[in-house]
Amino acid sequence: MASSYEKQRAKQRAQTAVACAVENGTLVRPSRCSRCGSTKDIQAHHPDYSKPLDVEWLCCKCHVGVHRPRRQGEIKMTFRPPLALWRETKILAINKGISAESLVIQALTAYMKGEGR
Ligand SMILES: [Zn+2]
Ligand SMILES: [Zn+2]
Repeated sequence: MASSYEKQRAKQRAQTAVACAVENGTLVRPSRCSRCGSTKDIQAHHPDYSKPLDVEWLCCKCHVGVHRPRRQGEIKMTFRPPLALWRETKILAINKGISAESLVIQALTAYMKGEGR
């Protein structure tokens, strides 16, 4: 219990240190995530709480990602169709002799052009 409390304290101290450093200009909060370039909700990630000003700036998505244990073969696509649709797409793609990904891109492009079929 004590160690987790200590960890919590260290985390709070590190977050306060970052907030102060940003306030006084020691640290500059970038407008983009250092991993994916997203501009949404940039947060300071501490690889090591004992180094409060050693931070990596990440969007909330990437930040959640670094705290989640890594899984093998994680799907990197941001757009994920429902499984049933995905299976159908794959079959269609095989019939057309192209990859399922490019078929999805083709379908999306057509959809966005208003040729929804
Ligand atoms: Zn990101
Ligand atoms: Zn973090």
